[in-house]
Amino acid sequence: MKKIVILMSIILFSFTLLGETLDRTTYKSGSYSIFFKERRVPQYKTRYDKGQDALVIEFSNSTISRTVPNTLNVDDKFVDTVAMSTLNNTVSTTIYLARGVDYKVAASGGELRVTLTKSTTAKKKYTIIVDAGHGGKDSGATGNGYREKDIALDVAKYLASELRNDYKVILTRDSDVFIPLGERAEIGNDANADFFISIHLNSASNSSGNGSEVFYYSKKESSYAAEVAKFENSVDSKYGVTEPVSDFILNDIFYRANQQKSAAVATDVLDNIVGDIGLRKRGVFGANFAVLRGSKSPSILVEIGFISNSGDMSYFGNDYYKRVVAKSIAEGVRKHFY
Ligand SMILES: [Zn+2]
Repeated sequence: MKKIVILMSIILFSFTLLGETLDRTTYKSGSYSIFFKERRVPQYKTRYDKGQDALVIEFSNSTISRTVPNTLNVDDKFVDTVAMSTLNNTVSTTIYLARGVDYKVAASGGELRVTLTKSTTAKKKYTIIVDAGHGGKDSGATGNGYREKDIALDVAKYLASELRNDYKVILTRDSDVFIPLGERAEIGNDANADFFISIHLNSASNSSGNGSEVFYYSKKESSYAAEVAKFENSVDSKYGVTEPVSDFILNDIFYRANQQKSAAVATDVLDNIVGDIGLRKRGVFGANFAVLRGSKSPSILVEIGFISNSGDMSYFGNDYYKRVVAKSIAEGVRKHFY
């Protein structure tokens, strides 16, 4: 008798420890269901992670059945992926939502159902163009074993994914292809973009030249800024593009308004890069860059660092700092577009 009591206690104790078992999940066009073995949904909490655009549901005192996969790739207009994890008897289900999706969560019996709908209010009112400098046959500047086009593309991709949380983002290129300067600006103009950001790396014949600088479009330029613009502008003719970048005809009021906005974003972007990474602050300059000249929207060109300087490249040769600089730039943009 005593043995049976002990055995019963152990079984009972085990049940309390194990709690509910998440048995299976189903997904069909915007409807995601989680089923529990004991036909009872355990206590749960939901929270929305704005940064990740993710809905997190945490079930206390639960476990996951081994047959439930850790990740479910959906990739439709409601959901990107769903991830499962367990920590200290808490099961977390993270639903990474697609852009502009609303959700409802309801439990009944052993089922918790998440119903997803396309949001009717457009959350993302601004369109931002992210332009990775150079590409394809045009490597841009080279140095320390790196090519400007590769680093610029990596940073541009990180920047785009960073900005996608808050904006509609268009990359002028997301692979190693050549695009003439004028076409880059046109991509933004066609999309009626609100802001244009071009990512580059600087180069100097003296390898000690280092630091970050940010440019905005200006008809007038200092001789230093003109020199940097000259290199970046030369790629079209160097690679056989004969059509000049049209001078987008902005009247003076628009030109000044664009310039003011561009210079303000440029200042914050540079402050962030210098503050976050500790690079040398070279300054914000107005210059006649072809890629900016063709843009109807305010625009900046960021020379994140010098490819010819080993110190700068000890950062930008490293994936971690490519993400950091992307974040620094994104923060500067967010301050002016909200
Ligand atoms: Zn460049």
